[in-house]
Amino acid sequence: MFIKTTAPQSVSSQSGLGRGLFDVASLNAMHAKMLKLLAAKGGRIDAIFYCPHTAEDDCHCRKPRPGLFEQIGLRFGVPLRGVPAVGDSLRDLQAGAAAGCEPHLVLTGKSEPYRGMAPPEGLPPGTQVHRDLSAFADFLLADSAEAAPQQASA
Ligand SMILES: [Zn+2]
Repeated sequence: MFIKTTAPQSVSSQSGLGRGLFDVASLNAMHAKMLKLLAAKGGRIDAIFYCPHTAEDDCHCRKPRPGLFEQIGLRFGVPLRGVPAVGDSLRDLQAGAAAGCEPHLVLTGKSEPYRGMAPPEGLPPGTQVHRDLSAFADFLLADSAEAAPQQASA
């Protein structure tokens, strides 16, 4: 899932690490490939945060707990209240909302089956639903255009 502070951050659960399915070097290689593919399209992610634990570890950073979000707030020195956070699963949105973020659900990935039907139950109050990440990006751009001060036309 993604959170937009000044530039997007990414948070994910990587229990494959805790379960020994892959190592940190492999995860770093996957992230490097993702950033490279994104850069080729003009995109940028400022930081990637992940939880390496398994459910049995009972850690604070595994979604739906807000630990990863709190790490972002600490690293970038920004309050998270009202910061848009987008994800494709209930756990994503629960974690973001627990950190004070504004929850946005995209109907892709885990939530694609909900297209054309009522969204999953238990979403945090105020969750906004978007068809996909592109629609969410359009929403953010329209929102920031609205918030930008008007230029004087003289
Ligand atoms: Zn964790």
